[in-house]
Amino acid sequence: MIASASICPRQVWLMVHQINPDEDDPNLEYGRFVHATAYQREGREIELRGSKFDVIAVKDNTIVVAEVKKSSKAIEGARLQLAHYLLLLEEQGIHAIGELRFPEERGRERVTLTNELRQAVLAQRQYIYRIAELRQPPPPKRIRWCSKCAYAELCWG
Ligand code: SF4
Repeated sequence: MIASASICPRQVWLMVHQINPDEDDPNLEYGRFVHATAYQREGREIELRGSKFDVIAVKDNTIVVAEVKKSSKAIEGARLQLAHYLLLLEEQGIHAIGELRFPEERGRERVTLTNELRQAVLAQRQYIYRIAELRQPPPPKRIRWCSKCAYAELCWG
């Protein structure tokens, strides 16, 4: 939801209200495939306060959390999502650093929880709470992400 909030408030509302997207949507299937193949040999999944993320290593007493994405097109949301995981850990007294991975582009980005990023995550959480409280979903608005969104059928079908 943290990442989705950077893209579409309607998507967030639908997720919050557990209106699930089409699980057979090819974009979702492909995303699952990229995630599964990127973690065949390393890491373990951790669940913390409703969020699931992958710890890939512990180096010099520092945990490294990774997030795999199909592409870097929505990097801002991906950065916030990873920073949210780092903040969840920090709230438990655990220092961690993050790594965004884009296997198809052979790219990586190190993410450190700076004060600026921490404030951005807190603001994003508040934004999500405000969307969640809406009685109706925000109306669909055609944006460039719609064609790859698993809710497209619901919004535009
Ligand atoms: S199809 Fe477009 S408007 Fe609908 S939830 Fe997805 S991104 Fe938002």
